[in-house]
Amino acid sequence: MTKWVYTFGDGKAEGNQGLKNLLGGKGANLAEMSNLGLPVPPGFTISTEVCTYYYAHERRYPAELAIGVDAALKHVGALTGRAFGDPENPLLVSVRSGARASMPGMMDTVLNLGLNDVTVEAMARLANDARFAWDSYRRFITMYSNVVLDIEHHNFEDILEEYKDSKGFTLDTELGADDWRHLVQAYKACVQHHLGRPFPQDPHEQLWGAISAVFGSWMNARAIKYRELHAIPESWGTAVNVQAMVFGNMGETSATGVAFTRNPSTGARELYGEFLINAQGEDVVAGIRTPQDITEAARLAAGSTKPSLEAAMPDAYRELVRIYGLLETHYRDMQDMEFTIERGKLWMLQTRNGKRTAKAALKIAVDLANEGLISREEAVLRVDPAALDQLLHPTIDPKAERIVVATGLPASPGAATGAIVFTSEEAEAAAREKRKVILVRVETSPEDIHGMHAAEGILTTRGGMTSHAAVVARGMGKPCVSGAGAIRIDMVNGTVSAGGKVLKRGDSITIDGSTGQVLQGEIAMLQPELSGEFATLMGWADQSRRLKVRTNAETPLDARMAVKFGAEGIGLCRTEHMFFDGERIIAMREMILADDEKGRRAALAKLLPMQRSDFIELFEIMKGLPVTIRLLDPPLHEFLPHEPREIQEIAEAMGASPEKLRVRALELRESNPMLGFRGCRLAVAYPEIAEMQARAIFEAAIEAGSRTGAAVSPEIMVPLVMTRAELDLVKARIDAMAAAVAKERGVTVDYSVGTMIELPRAALRAADIAGSAAFFSFGTNDLTQTTLGISRDDAGSFLGSYKARGILAEDPFVTLDREGVGELVKLAAERGRAARAGLKLGLCGEHGGDPASIAFCEEVGLDYVSCSPFRVPIARLAAAQAALGRVTKTEG
Ligand code: PEP
Ligand code: MG
Repeated sequence: MTKWVYTFGDGKAEGNQGLKNLLGGKGANLAEMSNLGLPVPPGFTISTEVCTYYYAHERRYPAELAIGVDAALKHVGALTGRAFGDPENPLLVSVRSGARASMPGMMDTVLNLGLNDVTVEAMARLANDARFAWDSYRRFITMYSNVVLDIEHHNFEDILEEYKDSKGFTLDTELGADDWRHLVQAYKACVQHHLGRPFPQDPHEQLWGAISAVFGSWMNARAIKYRELHAIPESWGTAVNVQAMVFGNMGETSATGVAFTRNPSTGARELYGEFLINAQGEDVVAGIRTPQDITEAARLAAGSTKPSLEAAMPDAYRELVRIYGLLETHYRDMQDMEFTIERGKLWMLQTRNGKRTAKAALKIAVDLANEGLISREEAVLRVDPAALDQLLHPTIDPKAERIVVATGLPASPGAATGAIVFTSEEAEAAAREKRKVILVRVETSPEDIHGMHAAEGILTTRGGMTSHAAVVARGMGKPCVSGAGAIRIDMVNGTVSAGGKVLKRGDSITIDGSTGQVLQGEIAMLQPELSGEFATLMGWADQSRRLKVRTNAETPLDARMAVKFGAEGIGLCRTEHMFFDGERIIAMREMILADDEKGRRAALAKLLPMQRSDFIELFEIMKGLPVTIRLLDPPLHEFLPHEPREIQEIAEAMGASPEKLRVRALELRESNPMLGFRGCRLAVAYPEIAEMQARAIFEAAIEAGSRTGAAVSPEIMVPLVMTRAELDLVKARIDAMAAAVAKERGVTVDYSVGTMIELPRAALRAADIAGSAAFFSFGTNDLTQTTLGISRDDAGSFLGSYKARGILAEDPFVTLDREGVGELVKLAAERGRAARAGLKLGLCGEHGGDPASIAFCEEVGLDYVSCSPFRVPIARLAAAQAALGRVTKTEG
């Protein structure tokens, strides 16, 4: 016969922690605490298998269930010396749901079940406290009516408020036994009115009503939605926990509370929590009364005049301290506990691993390992890499008030405050005067790099997670909110408006790049603290990691930052980004707009020394670590001049007519620049570009090598290749330049040439291409764009509804689409390696900083990932977790 019911209490239990699937989280932990001999009110758990049976059999129960429940009730009665439904000595119970994973949205709790017009009198006699009995009865009617009978809570609240008003009471504690007795009658009348039948008086009917409500709530809309969002299978089902009541509302020696074994916001090792005297569980969360502190230290720190538990009930406090130590050692993690004190005796009602902030998670993991409770590997597995973001950037003080103007995409983490400006020139002018500004634009382009550097943060109304603004801001480690479509920018009047609010140029605004919120005014921030624990945990992570972590960087600032964060090389130096600065962009535009080779060579000659000195600096900063330099890959539109002023500037620099340039710029306009004249196509058409870059790289390698005394071995990367022939053409020019420079300087540079794989055809032809490439770096931004046929820049307009409808589980530009793009990566890695032993494999798209995508890179055996500097620590931790075998879900 199947066992449907599991009892616990009195130092033993039929279940244990290992039976979580069957007993749910709460049931398993109650059983475990009983087995540990802790004071747990006796009770029983109806297993999740009953839930499964219930839904498989048109909401009917297995025939033997009633027998099991009756036997369990008798067992609990025997342990408590009471009997369920007994008019003289009634056993009262609580009924709670408890799934495998904690699930808000399901029926939570009914307390004091078993009370009726007869047993309430017995309780009054037994406790010698009529107020307690009638207070419990009215609580029971309210909760039961709400969660089982579906009568909204406010009906009872209204009755209570009206009554208090009529009597001139303000606090519930002012009400006496007769008041509650009166209210119970009014509540019962309310139930009769809503249901057309009386409040159930039969305790067994009450109990089965509550059990059915728990099982029923497994399929309510909120629970279904929650399961969908958290990938919890419907087949798991919920358990039901029925437990003898203990009363925190039996007068001044009784209380109820919650406590954490460590501080959940700082991680400090201290008992942290709150309690209420003469109260039941829901009062603590309901916020009607202000709870009291558990320890004297916390009371003093909070400046509270209400006694702490330590002072008010020293015996119960000592017992709580004993138990918390025991529970933490047993579960080897910070615990979140619920307790009740009935007339001085402490009872444990729940324990579970406590939720915590990123900062606390880090500290607790490191402390637990140092205390010997967990291994270092376990510590590494316990911290969510994505949460590290919170620690690396300034964040909005959680206590600060937020006035939300609009919400866009959380494009680059961290928060920033400043005055609104609309142009890069304004931003730069402000920066010179040390004024803090937020650059607000419809979208940004390469000309805005200056302004972006000068601003504290960037807000755009258009563009997705891989738009120019988003990518560049992440690279700079600047907060950015992109695609805040609800905002209207009126440049003429200098205003920003959204949702009825109008802000002017110069007004303060705050952006939260971690949530996408745009907020009015200046808001208090918390500064990042890269404390000792951070460094310790990262060190442990590095010991477990196989994947190398490099960075995407082209400026010395970014490169230094990345090295500080532990980058093991540069995986992607986007050389076109080196030409965004004032003077340089003019030379760059000159080169692009030149209509013959001579013109291009003239412009390239201006670019060469700048490029060379940048590379020297990068090589010096990286001190012999690998540096992958990508040849020019600008979608041309990013560099084309738009304004007459810009055309004039270039015309002057080139000594050409503005009109001729305007026509040339028009000729170069493309309908699909992302699929246009970019990547190696530039080098194929104009080999002199690749030649100039190769020369700059080789000369810089020689120079940096002689300055530092360490040989530099650059990796030269050709972008957007689709055939081996393209790569061969460009590679031939690079090799020829290497030979030329070696001859001129008498020094040979050790270099390699590889390619990006960012087109499906390149992935499919990987075996062929590997014949000419020493390494592959997967450019998964473009590979996602070209595999899914979704524009990187415009995806924002519809991706939201795709996610909402569950068509895509994640934004594929954030988390690698394993089934599609991932399949191409895997196949290219296999084909490439089969063709060339020792082919080096990396990934440098935005996915290189995303933990779930990093887990994929580990699975397919890439050599490294490369990401923006601020994501380097996240990638290090995620790579360690992937190596330690943590399962990271990407598909729901
Ligand atoms: C990519 O496409 O993934 C890549 C890294 O190149 P970019 O973002 O510069 O196109
Ligand atoms: Mg690309």
